[in-house]
Amino acid sequence: NKELRKPLVAGNWKMNGNRSLVQDFCKSLAGSEQVDIVVCPPCGYLSYFDQASFALGAQDVSHLNNGAHTGDHSVEMIKELGCRYVIVGHSERREDHQESSELVAEKALAVLTGGLTPIVCVGEPLDIREDNKEQEFIGKQLTALFDKIPAELLSQCVIAYEPIWAIGTGKTASPEQAQEVHKFIRDELAKVGSSVAEKVRILYGGSVKPSNASELFNQPDVDGGLIGGASLTTEDFTAICQSA
Ligand code: PGA
Repeated sequence: NKELRKPLVAGNWKMNGNRSLVQDFCKSLAGSEQVDIVVCPPCGYLSYFDQASFALGAQDVSHLNNGAHTGDHSVEMIKELGCRYVIVGHSERREDHQESSELVAEKALAVLTGGLTPIVCVGEPLDIREDNKEQEFIGKQLTALFDKIPAELLSQCVIAYEPIWAIGTGKTASPEQAQEVHKFIRDELAKVGSSVAEKVRILYGGSVKPSNASELFNQPDVDGGLIGGASLTTEDFTAICQSA
């Protein structure tokens, strides 16, 4: 029953933006009663968001506690910077930094333990899709997560399905393709518990634009989106948030 889940739209700026974009967003992007709106800028810009009426998220976090880990940010730090959400396991992190599904699960657990909400990304590359093996591939990514996260914490996760072939390519998954995988993910969650499956919000990501957002978000198992390129202007991002 989709009505039980509040839609969520998260913008992932990736390694883009500057202080003037932060000011733009603080001025022009309004929070909403109907949709949870989250902006995830690079960490260094988080503290420049002043009196934002939307939520903030980080794009990654360390699974370790404060200590000798050069270049990393802990959950404690991300929290102090005002974040309520953290993206973990984005395909660009999995690829650029060789993050395994086990590490991603450790990060999700650290985020949950710290009282924040992880947005856990899963999704298949093009060759796997062409072989029709996407469910098997995503199933393994989910198993690593389910093995590490107890059911009561799992129900607080957000999962983002992002087919890698659709990220930044302008090639969006069709609403039917998205729904098929989202349904698969929800069925996997149901094996952990029916209330887990009912509560977890599953976002679609990959070339979402104002022109295609509403038909994607209207699918029964699509609870919102994770937006890259189109989250870099307040106009596009606001239009997408209004479609949810
Ligand atoms: P895109 O990126 O919207 O630019 O395709 C989505 C993402 O990687 O989160």
